Amino acid sequence: MFHDQLDANQSCPCGSGHAFRDCCERALVGVAPAPTAEALMRSRYTAFALGAIDYLIDTQAPEKRLPGEAELLAEQTQLTHWTGLTILSTRRGGPFDSTGEVAFEARFEAEGQRGMLRENSRFRRDKGRWFYVDGDVELLPG
Ligand SMILES: [Zn+2]
Repeated sequence: MFHDQLDANQSCPCGSGHAFRDCCERALVGVAPAPTAEALMRSRYTAFALGAIDYLIDTQAPEKRLPGEAELLAEQTQLTHWTGLTILSTRRGGPFDSTGEVAFEARFEAEGQRGMLRENSRFRRDKGRWFYVDGDVELLPG
């Protein structure tokens, strides 16, 4: 689905400096689930950037999924152009932890306006897979 928009050899939208193929694509196509909370966060940013709605829903904690969320996300990802990600800090979230937190800033453009989303996200690991639970979100002018 997202191959139309991005060549696997290109650098990953998450800003890791690795090729998409060696980075978030592995989680997005289901080759290997994200091993850490930070990796999941990065892959979800990339999914937002590419409009990979199914992945965003699959990696959200099941109890947090809302009816109509796919439509909402589809609309949101069409209106928003994500232009960069910076990880500010991480707490726990390693391969052997059951919870983790990642603070990040994500820059975007929407309707000709630049903005920045700053979030402290909480993650949980269930049966070896990381899920996004929720976060404290701040929206700032870009
Ligand atoms: Zn990546």
